[in-house]
Amino acid sequence: MTSTKDPNNEVSFAETAMRMGGKTEEEATRTGAVDRADDQVESMFAPQYKTVNSPIHKAVWDEKVPIELFTPPKISADDVSNPAMQKSIEALKKHRDAKDIYDEKGKVSEQVFKDLADAGYWGMLIGKNYGGQGATVIQFMRFLANIAKVDPTCAGLASVHGCIGAVDPVQSFGTEEQKKKFLPLLASGKALSAFALTEPCAGSDLTALRTTAVLKGDNYIINGEKLFITNAIPGRTVGIVCLIDGKPAALIADLPPEENEHFKVVTYGLHALKHAYNNGLVFKDFAVPKENLLIPPIGDGLTVAYHGLNLGRLALCATATGVMKVMLANMLPWAHFRETYGHPVDTRELVKRRIARAAALIVGSEALYQWGSWLLDQGYRGELECVIAKIFGSEAQKEVAIELFMKTHGGRSFLHGHMFGDNVHEFLAPCIYEGEGEMLGMAFFKSLAKAHGQKFFEPVGMALQREKIKAFNPTNPAHAFALRNELIPYAMWRAGKMFEGPDQHTIAGMNETLQDHINFALDMLRELPIELSQNMVKHQLKLADRQCRIADLSRRVQDTIIMIVTCMWAHKQEDEVLIASADILCQDLRRGLTGHRASDKYFRACSKLADMVIAGGFKDLQDVHQADILFPYQKKASAKEPAAAGSKS
Ligand SMILES: Cc1cc2nc3c(=O)[nH]c(=O)nc-3n(C[C@H](O)[C@H](O)[C@H](O)COP(=O)(O)OP(=O)(O)OC[C@H]3O[C@@H](n4cnc5c(N)ncnc54)[C@H](O)[C@@H]3O)c2cc1C
Repeated sequence: MTSTKDPNNEVSFAETAMRMGGKTEEEATRTGAVDRADDQVESMFAPQYKTVNSPIHKAVWDEKVPIELFTPPKISADDVSNPAMQKSIEALKKHRDAKDIYDEKGKVSEQVFKDLADAGYWGMLIGKNYGGQGATVIQFMRFLANIAKVDPTCAGLASVHGCIGAVDPVQSFGTEEQKKKFLPLLASGKALSAFALTEPCAGSDLTALRTTAVLKGDNYIINGEKLFITNAIPGRTVGIVCLIDGKPAALIADLPPEENEHFKVVTYGLHALKHAYNNGLVFKDFAVPKENLLIPPIGDGLTVAYHGLNLGRLALCATATGVMKVMLANMLPWAHFRETYGHPVDTRELVKRRIARAAALIVGSEALYQWGSWLLDQGYRGELECVIAKIFGSEAQKEVAIELFMKTHGGRSFLHGHMFGDNVHEFLAPCIYEGEGEMLGMAFFKSLAKAHGQKFFEPVGMALQREKIKAFNPTNPAHAFALRNELIPYAMWRAGKMFEGPDQHTIAGMNETLQDHINFALDMLRELPIELSQNMVKHQLKLADRQCRIADLSRRVQDTIIMIVTCMWAHKQEDEVLIASADILCQDLRRGLTGHRASDKYFRACSKLADMVIAGGFKDLQDVHQADILFPYQKKASAKEPAAAGSKS
């Protein structure tokens, strides 16, 4: 990271545009605050790692798609099997087999926290010089996907602690003294952490934060209420985002071992993350030492929050990948055991399509979090890339759970003790936390379109103000003449796009089908900037209100990028099942982009992939624990399968 000028006090064009578009002063100011926070994060990165130089931004706006930036190296099993990782997995498997991961309250037990601490689990992302394991982002995320196959809540807690909790804020923004004070404790698990950002009045809209901190003597005195804070119980270490002099700030606070008159825990029933604590926190004149304030080189508390959220979003996708593997691995024995009309349901085309779709979503998710992690390891900001991974991972997990896993398990899905019924809220909640998917999709579009807007439309907007033109009409000669100097650069860009030749990348050794998907995506990437830009011209200052169009455009860019990332990743794996899964995902995405119907060839490809998965070809499912089939039964003698009484089949 590097720092340049502080955009703290600049009024962004987004803010000006909101005012010009007739928005209220409050909305314009708040939008400006979000935009500035984003600029501040951006200004910490060296030019080559900023959003405009990120793979997605370049792929959309540059003449050539930088395909090399979509090609992370293959990560082998050895890369994620350092002794601490191995010990952690073994410790967790031991508890899973003993069925004692959770205590009598159904929460991850203190013993599990301790055994994981002994294994080095809580220090994975912390540098070795502070007592941690010093894992790279890609190693950590790949490991997390493995942990999620054993216990998703423990994977989630590692993310809360290491990504959005206190670890990343202190490691990325702490002074040497703060690092020495907090990191060894956080690495050893003696301090476990949470991140307290959202409030009853502030979730999607973080400009609505109300919790305050006021410096009195050697302490900041905090007043306010936080809501939905995962892993927040007395005794934990919490990163608190609150307002100091009206600006968001991040303080690291050690919560007292028990509630007192300055600190109360608000409990409520919460269906999701049921094996972890999630509470509200009420602070009344709660004192935090002033040296616990994190001061980013540029920006404020939201800068700290957004930094950790990028990691958190990859972790969410990695965890979802592991969870989806568990669901697919548990669809197979059931679909093989269950017979209807004399045949196992896994011989049916409909069920095979579900198996293929699950494999496809897993591969897309795996590709996205590994790619995003690799980019963060190189120093990229990774905002766009992490957002895509978060949206895809959470939506894929929702689809696998509801459309594929639940439907295939039929009525048993709703029995107590069935993985679906017992965990349905766990499968859905990632669509909301760390940013609701559609809101993030709109933010994705905004980041993607920002530089183009600033370059070509901001001068036009300023000229409109200068010329006092309220509604710009490009076909009006008077308007065109008044704004000729501002319009010429855009006209030249637009003409250049029309004459741009096709971008082609022949990937050495790539299977023909995947290469065809790459070619399609590259063609899309020639059209998308024009589509995006046309909408900016069409809706002008009202574009911010055209949320459905923004969401639609965002979706189209995301799907195109997902195709490239998935193909490149699958190609590197040199595994026919993963390649076939990538093909199915790309066919699905292509149909979404073109509006075409599924062909018979596609259905045949699904069945073929499902047969390979059923035959054990999806290697990463092999170590997944398979739950007992509920209400097993003796099959009739004529049936092809022998009965598997009360057990796995
Ligand atoms: C299980 C769980 C764990 C969590 N853990 C943490 C944690 O550890 N720390 C923490 O700080 N927070 C945590 N959260 C909070 C979480 O980050 C928020 O719930 C999330 O960011 C959404 O905020 P909200 O619930 O206030 O939604 P709201 O702000 O109430 O928004 C609701 C919905 O309205 C729509 N909407 C809102 N604004 C707009 C707009 N401008 N335009 C169009 N549509 C709009 C969106 O669809 C949005 O999802 C957790 C939440 C859950 C459920």
